[in-house]
Amino acid sequence: MYVNVEQYESIKKQCAAFNATLIAVSKTKPAGAIMELYDLGHRDFGENYVQELVEKYEQLPKDIRWHFIGHLQTNKAKLIVPIAHTIHSVDSEKLLQTINKETAKVNKQVSCLLQMYIAQEETKYGLDEAEILVVMQKQGSYSNVKIVGLMAMASFTDNKHQIAQEFKVVNNLFQSLNSEHFNQLSIGMSSDYEIALQNGSTFVRVGSSIFGARNYNK
Ligand SMILES: *Cc1c(COP(=O)(O)O)cnc(C)c1O
Repeated sequence: MYVNVEQYESIKKQCAAFNATLIAVSKTKPAGAIMELYDLGHRDFGENYVQELVEKYEQLPKDIRWHFIGHLQTNKAKLIVPIAHTIHSVDSEKLLQTINKETAKVNKQVSCLLQMYIAQEETKYGLDEAEILVVMQKQGSYSNVKIVGLMAMASFTDNKHQIAQEFKVVNNLFQSLNSEHFNQLSIGMSSDYEIALQNGSTFVRVGSSIFGARNYNK
């Protein structure tokens, strides 16, 4: 048993109260862990690593909606485009161009979120507000992809006020761009999803609270 069913049900209920979709982040967890949640009816899963997602995609049911949430190198986009339902982590215009080109080769559309940099850390990827506005103005040149919203990660801190402030920054920009086709805000993880739901989240990405702590040394 990998899944903490009680926690999962509780988080799912909180998301439903805000009309948000819960993405179960299954990175580093085996296919069996995903199947436990799948058998409870869950279909939205998040993965960070290209090779890991490719392998899981091949093994697992095809009605799973895969959300790619990790940093994507442009030369790996061709592996993810045919598989992903939504790519949350578009952190450069060059990556968007590549996704657009790769999408033209496969018979499907990919939804993308632009990742905004909001944290006070040097380690996280993302675009700033000005860069996002530039991309939004040029949307027409990326006609194969649907840019459906924004994604962001708050600073790694216990300071709930700071986290809320960071989420407000991305939510403000999101609200100013909001439309029928630009309506997804991907914020919130195990430690801060409640703050994210209070600040407009429509996609919550929760891993360890559902599957337990990750072990990266395997
Ligand atoms: C790993 C990861 C998550 C999930 O993190 P938890 O703290 O385990 O909930 C969410 N979003 C991104 C971008 C991640 O890399």
